[in-house]
Amino acid sequence: MSASDSPVSNDLFNRALKLIPGGVNSPVRAFRSVGGTPFFTQSAKGARLTTADGRELIDYVCTWGPAIHGHNHPAIREAVAEALERGTSFGTPNPYEVEMAELIVDMVPSVEKVRMVNSGTEATMSAIRLARGATGRDKIIKFAGCYHGHVDSLLVKAGSGALTLGNPDSAGIPASFAGETIVLPYNDLGALQLAFSEHPEKIAGVIIEPYPANCGLILPQTGYLEALRELCTRHGTVLIFDEVMTGFRIAPGGVQEKTGVTPDLTCLGKIIGGGLPVGAFGGRADLMDHLAPLGPVYQAGTLSGNPLAMAAGITALKLLREGDPYKRLESSAKQLAIALKLAAANLGVALQVPQAGSMFGLYFADKPVTNFDEALASRTELFKPLFQCALDLGVYLPPSAYEACFVSTAHTVNDIARTAEVLTSAIKQISESGPGQ
Ligand SMILES: *Cc1c(COP(=O)(O)O)cnc(C)c1O
Repeated sequence: MSASDSPVSNDLFNRALKLIPGGVNSPVRAFRSVGGTPFFTQSAKGARLTTADGRELIDYVCTWGPAIHGHNHPAIREAVAEALERGTSFGTPNPYEVEMAELIVDMVPSVEKVRMVNSGTEATMSAIRLARGATGRDKIIKFAGCYHGHVDSLLVKAGSGALTLGNPDSAGIPASFAGETIVLPYNDLGALQLAFSEHPEKIAGVIIEPYPANCGLILPQTGYLEALRELCTRHGTVLIFDEVMTGFRIAPGGVQEKTGVTPDLTCLGKIIGGGLPVGAFGGRADLMDHLAPLGPVYQAGTLSGNPLAMAAGITALKLLREGDPYKRLESSAKQLAIALKLAAANLGVALQVPQAGSMFGLYFADKPVTNFDEALASRTELFKPLFQCALDLGVYLPPSAYEACFVSTAHTVNDIARTAEVLTSAIKQISESGPGQ
C-alpha cells in the first residue's frame, strides 16, 4: 500500500502530525518499526477493516486483542445502543456493574471480588498498589519483555547484572521508582529463587504475563508457573497474573484456567470491554478488601463501571461463555501457524511460530524463543518486508515484530485460507530478496 494509493490517509496523517505527537494516540500505531504511513480506518466489520481510502483488509490486530468476536459485532452494538437509551454515565452504582462482577467471578477461577477500571494500565497500577498496601512491602518483581501498560514502576528494564535493580525504560521515570522493581528473565527459575533469597520479606508482589505476548509470544517451560506460585506462597508475596491479553482469550478463565495455576490477583482488560475502554483487577476477597472504602489502599475512578462499557463487556463475555468458540478459534490460528511454518521450511527461512489458542507470534530464529533476550536476538529486520508484503495483499498484521497476531470468531474459513496464501507469498518474497536483507 504505497503513499500514492492512500491520499485520504496521508492527508489525515499530515494533519494529525501537526496536532498529535507523532500523529497518533498510542505510539505503535505510527508504523515506525515497519515503515510507511499508517492507514486510517473508516469503519470495521467482522474480520475486516475498511480504510479511509476504501481498501478492505483482513485484520489480525483485532484492536490489539479486544475484538475476539470481530469488529462491530451486532449483539455488542445492540447492547450498547440499549444502554445508551438510559444514559451514558451516572456516577452512582448501576445494575450492569453487578452483572459484570458476577460474570468475571464466575469465569475467572481465582477471582472472588473484582473492581472495574478503564484500562489495562489502571488495572496493573492498582494491583501493584494493592499488593504493596496489603503486604506492607515495597519491592515488585517483573519479567523482561512483559508489558503491563505504562505504569511508572513497571516501565522498567533489567539492570546490567542479573540481580541489579531495574532501570527506567522511559524518560520521566525517577530511578528511585525503578529501583523498587526487580527485573528477571522469564522462564528462569534460578533467577527467581535468587531474587527471593536476596530480598527476604521485601517483595510485595510478582507481576507476570503468564504467557508473555507483548514481545511476540513466549510459552512457559514445564513447571515454571507452578514453581513461581509455590515461591510466592512460601514468601508471603502476592502473585499477580496480568491477563489483560490472555484473559478470556486462551480460555474463558485465561491462562489460570488452562494451566490450573492460581494467582492471588488478576489484571484484566481488552476483551472484557467488548471494544470499549475497560479494565479490571480482582482476586482473593481478603486481599481485595484492603481497597477503599473497606481498607486503607486508595483506588477510584470517575467513569469506572461506566454503563455503556459494561453493557459491551457483559455481552462480549456472554458470547464467549455461551458460544464456546475456543476450539474453532484455536484451529484457525493453528492453520495459519502451520501454513507459515510450511512455507518457511520449504524456502529455508528460519522461522518460529509459537501459538496458543487464537494467538500466534513470529520469530525469525532457528529455535524456539524462551525469553526476551532470545526474542531480541531474532532477525526482526525480516518482519518489515513480511508486514509490507502482507499489507499489499490485503492482510493487516500487527505493525511490529514483537506483537502477537489475533484471530477472531469473525475470521471465516475463506479468510483463513486466503491469509495462509498471502503469508506464504510474503515468506517467499522475503526468501527471494536474499540473505543480505
Ligand atoms: C495491553 C496490555 C496492558 C495495558 O492495557 P491498556 O488498556 O493499553 O492500558 C497491560 N498488560 C498487558 C499484558 C497488555 O497486553
